[in-house]
Formats: sequence, C-alpha cells, structure tokens
Amino acid sequence: MTKVFNDPAQFTEDAVKGFCAAYPELVLRVPGGVVRRAQPDEPKVAVVVGGGSGHYPAFAGVVGPGFADGAVIGNVFTSPSAADAFSVGKNASSGKGVIITAGNYAGDVLHFTEAAKELSEIGIPAKTIFITDDVASAPVSEIHKRRGIAGDFTVFKTMSAASEAGYELDEVLRVGHKTNERTRTLGVAFSGCTLPGAKDPLFTVPKGFMGVGLGIHGEPGISEDKLPTAKELAKLLVDGATKELASSTDRRIAVILNGLGGTKYEELFVLFGHVVEFLEADGWQINEPEVGELVTSLEMAGVSLTITTLDDELEKFWKAPCTTPAYKKGAVVSGGSKSRSVIQDDATSSYQEAANQDEAELASQVLELLETAQQELVRIESQLALLDSFAGDGDHGRGMLKGINAAVSAAKAAKSKNANSAELLKAAGQAWEANAGGTSGALWGVTLKTIASELPNSTGEDFASRAAKAVNRAEQAVRELGKAKVGDKTMVDAFVPFVEQLERFVADGLGLSRAWLQAAQHSMQAAEATAQLAPKIGRARPLAEKSLGHPDPGAISFASIMIAVGQSLNDKKDSK
Ligand code: ADP
Ligand code: MG
Repeated sequence: MTKVFNDPAQFTEDAVKGFCAAYPELVLRVPGGVVRRAQPDEPKVAVVVGGGSGHYPAFAGVVGPGFADGAVIGNVFTSPSAADAFSVGKNASSGKGVIITAGNYAGDVLHFTEAAKELSEIGIPAKTIFITDDVASAPVSEIHKRRGIAGDFTVFKTMSAASEAGYELDEVLRVGHKTNERTRTLGVAFSGCTLPGAKDPLFTVPKGFMGVGLGIHGEPGISEDKLPTAKELAKLLVDGATKELASSTDRRIAVILNGLGGTKYEELFVLFGHVVEFLEADGWQINEPEVGELVTSLEMAGVSLTITTLDDELEKFWKAPCTTPAYKKGAVVSGGSKSRSVIQDDATSSYQEAANQDEAELASQVLELLETAQQELVRIESQLALLDSFAGDGDHGRGMLKGINAAVSAAKAAKSKNANSAELLKAAGQAWEANAGGTSGALWGVTLKTIASELPNSTGEDFASRAAKAVNRAEQAVRELGKAKVGDKTMVDAFVPFVEQLERFVADGLGLSRAWLQAAQHSMQAAEATAQLAPKIGRARPLAEKSLGHPDPGAISFASIMIAVGQSLNDKKDSK
C-alpha cells in the first residue's frame, strides 16, 4: 500500500515535483507533464508518451535524448486530458511534427486523438498510435481491442530511436506500427495495489494462487491459477508471449521481463534464467534483454514477459543509445545545446465584446442551461455511479459532476469577461474535458466544443434550425472520436435518436423548446432500452454480461441532461 503521501488528491503533482527536482538537467515541467530539458539542435519528430501515473519509470522516466521528447502525466491510473496532451505536444515539438502514443485504453485514445487534431489545427502535424501487446485482453480476432502493458516500452523505444535518426513523421509512425505488430506480452499478478489514500487494494489474489493476464491499473487477472514453480511460470509466460509469433522467420527478439513494482529483482532473475532456456530451446536469439521494473502498477506484485521480433531496422533502434532519468543505454547522448523554456497556453483569457444585447442574452441563457445540467447531475450522481458499477468502474456520476462543475465555473468566468455564447460554450467544453477525465469527459468536451464552433457558422436560418444543426454536428463528432455505433450500448444510443427527433420536430415548426423536450423524451426511451444490450465497446466490454438488465450510464446521463434542459427551455418560454 502507498505509505508516503500528503493529500492523496495531490499525489501525482507532488511526485512530479520531486521527479523534476531529481532530474533538472534532463526534464522540464510543463502544463500537463514534462518535456526534455534540451531543445534539439536540429528539428526532429517529437515522440510524446503518456497515460495515467503509477507506472514509473513509465512514462516520465523515459523522457530524454534518444528516447521520448515528452510525457503527458495523468493522475494515478487516470487518462490525462486532451488539454494536457496538447500542451505537452506543443512544448515538445521542434518543427517536424508530433507523435502521441499510449497504451490502448479508451480514455487515453479519446483524449490523445483530440489533442492530435488540435495540434494539427495550429499547424503542428500530429499523429497517434496506441499499443496493443497484452495477449490476455482479447482474442486475435479482436487484436485491435487489446490493452497496452509493458510492450508500450518496446514500441516507444524503437519509435523514439527512429525519430532521433531523422525519420519523418510517417516513417516514425510506420516503425511504431511495425513494432506493435511484432510485440506480445503476458503477465501474472501475485497481489493487487492500493491507490494512495485508499484502505483496500484494487483486487486481491487468494493465497497460493496467481492472476493470469494481469492489467496495469489494478484490473484483476483474467483467470486464476495455482502458484507454480519459477520454471513452470517461465514456461507459461514464454508460451503465452511467443505463441502468436512462433511462425516468424525473424528469430531475433527483444525481451523484457518486467517487474510490476512489488516483485524482487532476485525473483525476476530466478525466472529469467528459465525464460532464456525456454526461448533458446525454441530457436529464439535474445538481443539486449531487460530484466527489471519498466512499466509498473504502484506496488503490485507480479511479472510480465514481453517479446518483440526484430528485423535489421528494429534491432538497430532497440539497441540505440539513450540517456533518460530511468533508462540509460550506451554512451551518454547529448540532447542539444540550448535549454527549453515553457510555452504557456493562454487561449481563453481574452474575448471579443459580446456583439450586441441579443448576443449577451444568449450567452446568459447558455450559462443558465449549463447550470440546469449541473443541478440535474447533482440529483442523479448516485444513480449514475450505481449504473457504472455493474460492468464499469463506478466513476460515471463523479466524473460527470466534476466535468459539469468545471464547465460551469469556466462559463461563469468567460461570461464575466463578456464572452459571447460560442466562446462561453467553448470554454465550458475545454474545462469539462480537462477536469472530468474518463471516456465520458472527452466525449462531453467534444460535444460542447463542437456546438460552440458550429453555432456561429450556420447563419441565414432561424435559430432553432441552426441549433439543431449544431447538435447534429456534435453527435457526428462524438461518433467520429469514440467510434461507437448505435447498439454498442453507449451514450451514442441516446444521442442519435435525440438528434433525429430534434431535427424532425424543428422541421415540423414545433419551435426549439418543445422540439427539444420531445426529442429528449425519445432519447430517454432509447437510453432505457439499452438495458437489453451487451456493451461492445469501452471499459464495460470485458464484463459485458454483468451489464445485461441495466441501462448504459452514459446514455442515461445524456438523456437526463437533455430532458432537464428541455424543461428549462419550456419553463422560460411559458414565463415570458
Ligand atoms: P470510463 O469508462 O472511462 O470510466 P465514464 O464512466 O465516465 O468513463 O463513462 C462511461 C460511459 O461512456 C459509458 O456508459 C458509455 O455511455 C460512454 N462510452 C464509453 N465508450 C464510448 C465510446 N467509444 N463512444 C461513446 N460513448 C462511450
Ligand atoms: Mg466509468
């Protein structure tokens, strides 16, 4: 259990502060994470790694010459926000574009994809790649749904070395995809980890057993087995990690035997002796193996074995030198002669004056509607938490409340500076995304930001049609970002019927208030009907059966907000 901390909510901040104090010559603290201290002398593709914290040396520990250009740092086991990734990307960029990379988790995928889009919009080409090495997390037929665990390290390493060698953005990305395709990991857990400030571990393993198919965020093993001897464990890991690589004609491999944080190095070496025997017996040639802690999960006890098949290109990049706080290879690499300074983002501080009285009133109304949504989310927080606990992680009520609270504060601040309605909604969306975390935080951030950018564009029509069109665009943006389809059991199941009905009722001339409320009621019916579905995407997918009989939390929160907003619009109209 985590014993050294002050305020648990500040744990990550405090850790990053100490980390930067320990390695001032290598890393620089920037909003959202850290970047290399040295500005590269020549422009290079910036490789930005990231994810929640609690995995040291992943990910901040590998920032430095030869390895990553920056790391986005979220709270323990929590995805950083798009704003964090945008800030680190911007600070890490040196003129040849940015690659943002993480393990394949919905929150990281949504936030980092959004950040890459935003970086591209300001003229910094940016791409993403998400690592899928964990063989236990999905079958080969759904390989793209697998999680990223210690294989993150191998993929980050070869991509970083490719960028150091002067490769262009698409070439670095190609190296990343090639490495990911050739990388497999299997791990086992002996005991769970405890979040700072929590009393109980996130999972326990019965005495004399181990969890096979470990996760690195306190997810329990996928199955349980009797604790074997070291030799039997080596066999299990080697077979699991090499099974899908067996037919490779490249017999050279990179190997990582990774400790999860609470397993002694001597134990790892006992295991590694056998791992080598089994690998060599199968005709594999081991290249510069790593035995030690590279991707941890707080103080969890466990080990994982990662294998990557190497061709000439990947062997060169795997072996290339680097100089980072936690990982040094070969001769010391100089990162550049000049020191960086922090680029702050100051996007929301100044606004055009709200153009006229109508615009000022519209901004006030938008703020009031956000407050209506806030009251509704306070009312239903515990219901959402319960719905998210059947197959998810129980944080949906809390996450939505954090998001709307931040959105309302940001909207108020924007209003006090005379922001117009679009600027106010944009500030609200950015604040929601930055503060809520989780999958829904990214999707609601995008919803508000899209409405903000679409509202002023669709001129020349009546306001109801423009509003309906903006909401339609937001729904498309959510589907584009989250890749969920109707029937996958997500908020999309409530969003799509809402938009369809809203556009229909508006076209019928119902007026925005009545059209909105009636569409919201349809949306609620659709949300409730998700109870019959099994989730096909997101965190709830691996435990799909437990979700049957309960509606999707994100669909219910969406429809509830829309109904509350619809009622408020009608109340106002009636009182006029
Ligand atoms: P997390 O799953 O990261 O803990 P939340 O609990 O806040 O995030 O939100 C869960 C909700 O997010 C789900 O109930 C579902 O409605 C929605 N969701 C999950 N994945 C997607 C997706 N890919 N597209 C749209 N909505 C999604
Ligand atoms: Mg959740």
